[in-house]
Amino acid sequence: MELAKNKIRSVQSEEILPDKWYNIVPDLPEKIPPPLDKNGDPLSPDKLEELFPSSLVAQEISNDRFISIPEDVREAYLELGRPTPLIRARRLENKLGTPAKIYFKYEGVLPTGAHKVNTAVAQAYFAKIDGVERLTTETGAGQWGSALALAGALFNIKIRVYMVRVSYKQKPYRRILMQLYGAEVVPSPSNLTNYGRKILEEDPDNPGSLGIAISEAIEDALTNPGTKYSLGSVLNFVLMHQTVIGLEAKKQLEYLGEEDPDYLIGCVGGGSNFAGFTYPFIYDKLRGKLDVEIIAVESKAAPSMTKGVYTYDYGDSAGLTPLIKMHTIGHRFVPPPIHAGGLRYHGVAPSLSILLNNNIVKAVAYKQTEVFEAARIFAQTEGFVPAPETAHAVKAVIDIAREAKKNNEKKIIAFNFSGHGLLDLSGYDEFLSGKLADSEPKTINLSYLPKI
Ligand SMILES: *Cc1c(COP(=O)(O)O)cnc(C)c1O
Repeated sequence: MELAKNKIRSVQSEEILPDKWYNIVPDLPEKIPPPLDKNGDPLSPDKLEELFPSSLVAQEISNDRFISIPEDVREAYLELGRPTPLIRARRLENKLGTPAKIYFKYEGVLPTGAHKVNTAVAQAYFAKIDGVERLTTETGAGQWGSALALAGALFNIKIRVYMVRVSYKQKPYRRILMQLYGAEVVPSPSNLTNYGRKILEEDPDNPGSLGIAISEAIEDALTNPGTKYSLGSVLNFVLMHQTVIGLEAKKQLEYLGEEDPDYLIGCVGGGSNFAGFTYPFIYDKLRGKLDVEIIAVESKAAPSMTKGVYTYDYGDSAGLTPLIKMHTIGHRFVPPPIHAGGLRYHGVAPSLSILLNNNIVKAVAYKQTEVFEAARIFAQTEGFVPAPETAHAVKAVIDIAREAKKNNEKKIIAFNFSGHGLLDLSGYDEFLSGKLADSEPKTINLSYLPKI
């Protein structure tokens, strides 16, 4: 076909959407260490079922390589915009003068503007199947909360979102979006939980944090009948739900005649969009069928992969979650207030931690200002405005494309465009007016972590 050497946008027909998710757990070079309780004893699945719907607990501990996507979930994916496009960034290539080819998987077409819908829809579906009536969760800037609020509306599940108080006040648009979908949004710390009341007693003006909001959402789920807790990243089943991204991308690259990318890149908060995009390719890499460099990008403000340690830690600041073994900078770490709210988490997924330990994935960290500069170049060449989180991946892509120019190498670079930044324009406003600052933690104190 004549078009073949210059295709720009891949097919998006229904057959591209997979009918199974890929679970990397049985393919990892090491077993994932089990989650532990406070005393350091392995947690039984019953304990996890107090927190999560039982279908999801079964997925969390599954060793099956492929798990079927239920027809209702697959239909929802199709209705909401999957398969998402894979697009060649030719104007960006030209601007950089690089011989490299750059492709991006654009998750911004989903209704709330990011990949998080992929797991939200699945979680709401399985909650419904398991007879759960209500889900609680936390949200920082509101990306995850709005995805779950949408999923709750589609599958008729009540949603309560504990939203970090400072974001609740400063970022009204995602709060409004969640309320529009019918979710109840509560600023955290709140007086609806014991933990929230305790914090407000000590400090009535506490601005809140993701860790506090998680603690409140968990306490709510554990103390109210018919209620379970929902988490938007880190867990095995969340990463697995996101693999629709990479499974589609593999087929789409094939269609575009680029079966073997040289670089795969994604940003990392807890690791879900990164895993969703890269794990289906890592499947081939682990079998010696694909020689590809895989780069995970984080913020220097919350450097869990590049400065953290691999140890057991809690997922929330109150220590209510099980202990999980991961790269962490400590659950009490309070990151500087960067715009990439989704990258402020203190840990990363256990499976990603193992891939980092085994040098299958490489990590890099960038500062806020250099990341916004990269996002500006991308917006001016490709039109799509990256979310501040996504901008971290864009920065790495631009660096590699420039390196390829220096070495005159025709590399193929593909990255996950996790979400658009049209509700993050206030961050861009700060950037454009020269008010954006870089802040990095001076020290990372891990002495309080449990010694296990
Ligand atoms: C939440 C979010 C992230 C970070 O979360 P992961 O679980 O690491 O994917 C990245 N990009 C966008 C746009 C997000 O909303």
